[in-house]
Amino acid sequence: MTLQEADPQIAELMAKEQHRQESTLELIASENHVSRAVMEAAGSVLTNKYAEGYPGKRYYGGCQFYDQIETLAIDRAKQLFDCKYANVQPHSGANANLAAFMAMMQPGDRFISLNLASGGHLSHGMKLNTSAIFYKPAHYELDPKTETIDFDSVRAKAQEIKPRVILCGYSAYPRTIDFAQFRKIADEVGALVMADIAHIAGLVAAGIHPSPFPHAHVVTTTTHKTLRGPRGGLILTNDEELNKAINRSVFPGSQGGPLMHIVAAKAVAFGESLRPEFKSYARQIVKNAKALADALIAKGYRLVSGGTDNHLMLVDLRARNAELTGADVEKALEAAGIISNKNGVPNDTRPPTQTSGLRLGTPAITTRGLKEADMATVAAFIDRAVLAKGNTDGLAKIRGEVAEFCKKFPMPH
Ligand SMILES: *Cc1c(COP(=O)(O)O)cnc(C)c1O
Repeated sequence: MTLQEADPQIAELMAKEQHRQESTLELIASENHVSRAVMEAAGSVLTNKYAEGYPGKRYYGGCQFYDQIETLAIDRAKQLFDCKYANVQPHSGANANLAAFMAMMQPGDRFISLNLASGGHLSHGMKLNTSAIFYKPAHYELDPKTETIDFDSVRAKAQEIKPRVILCGYSAYPRTIDFAQFRKIADEVGALVMADIAHIAGLVAAGIHPSPFPHAHVVTTTTHKTLRGPRGGLILTNDEELNKAINRSVFPGSQGGPLMHIVAAKAVAFGESLRPEFKSYARQIVKNAKALADALIAKGYRLVSGGTDNHLMLVDLRARNAELTGADVEKALEAAGIISNKNGVPNDTRPPTQTSGLRLGTPAITTRGLKEADMATVAAFIDRAVLAKGNTDGLAKIRGEVAEFCKKFPMPH
């Protein structure tokens, strides 16, 4: 029985969602559109079976093909990131981080990271997250002038706190990360470096952003952002002992059976990322981000740190109009068919539910085939929607134009 026959309610909602994706511009920096091949693996018979354990060491019979699938996923991940060990089982980026923490720290141990408000991730020590419930976070800061990582602050915190782990890698940071600097400071205080490359993994895999190896002891990532795979997590290392600890902390430490349909989809995505086309894709993401950044600056917006080196930018809306909030602009853009998220800017005076900024990224629209020249059109749509804020008819008109524009850029099916 098809889904349509078995459950028309869900089938209809899925069809609506597909149309929403096709007819809008996806500018959320952490999202992407996966290939048909990745989707086929993710929605497959592989969802039917338990495969607790690792290839060759399972707790269930019948895992012959699962072993081969997971081994392929591991081998491709290692090749992609040029490292010795990979664990492909984490269900998500947050799970990968928890398992990495468990492998490197005992409960109560200290680590330092960038806090959520400055561009970090909630799994980097936000007070309600396991990372702060079971471990002790402290935070280094951005340089208030350049709005980039302040390595004097990293060093000062590291010397003050004597952390077990120094965590770098962010959710809303538009600049290149200097992993070597983190390692230098970590060596000075006897800490381990953990690099969470969830956002930039695709750029790293393509050689567009410097690799965290050999500087980081442990690297975690999601597989669904710039890497353009299924929703999931991944942990990498070159250290044999850490690898053993990581494997134990994923299973049985923090997870039960792996999602083997997703592991297969990760293998497919890693295979895609190893091909030369992916390098061109990643390069285009960055070109598009620069072009969109320039077009927005030309319209009077201020970008945090003045621009972008990667796939995302943080727009400080106050330069365009002091009254604008991230929440209002996110809503206006959505009504116009442009999907984004509000985001705090450094030293934001508004609460996280309002914010003064907007985070925009180009991974998804680059997958759809938009190029630098299209970024002026996208920026014009954005600015018109900002100006039409609160004007239902005006926003609906832009919504129609955006839907028409999107027809030129079909989804990868
Ligand atoms: C997105 C993200 C994660 C978490 O990923 P989930 O799959 O949503 O759990 C972790 N770290 C960083 C830096 C991220 O941006």
